Amino acid sequence: MKINRIITLLFFLISVGSCAQEKNTKNETSYQVIKTEEEWKEQLTELEYEVLREEGTERAFSGKYVDWKKKGTFVCKACGNPLFSSETKFKSGTGWPSFYTYKNDNSVLEVPDNKYGWNRVEVECKKCGSHLGHVFEDGPKPTGLRYCINSVSLDFVEED
Ligand code: FE
Repeated sequence: MKINRIITLLFFLISVGSCAQEKNTKNETSYQVIKTEEEWKEQLTELEYEVLREEGTERAFSGKYVDWKKKGTFVCKACGNPLFSSETKFKSGTGWPSFYTYKNDNSVLEVPDNKYGWNRVEVECKKCGSHLGHVFEDGPKPTGLRYCINSVSLDFVEED
């Protein structure tokens, strides 16, 4: 009897431990930039708010950065966090700016998104939690990933 309890307890501790270790899990209190929805509304346009704060999607081929070719860094429209380098941008033909990886470890969080019965992975800004787009496993080498990002979620800082 006692050994069963110990085994149960061990399993419990292991599962708690693995949850704590899981990187890239949404934790609203961990964002560096936290604002009220009123403050976001004041700062953002209606479309930016809808995409960044309500997980909306801009119309395909409507965004400013779909065919953007300049060299520099794409940053979060909501908080300025560096997200993607122009060097990892590629032409996907989807109508949204696409990248095969993110800029650095502080750039993005990847969160399971099962809305509408799809098993997608949402990409959000690691610093402020704003919605950027989704990541799919049909991208080019070297990662095989396609970060499909809304233009309105981005701003651009050109390289000198
Ligand atoms: Fe942000």
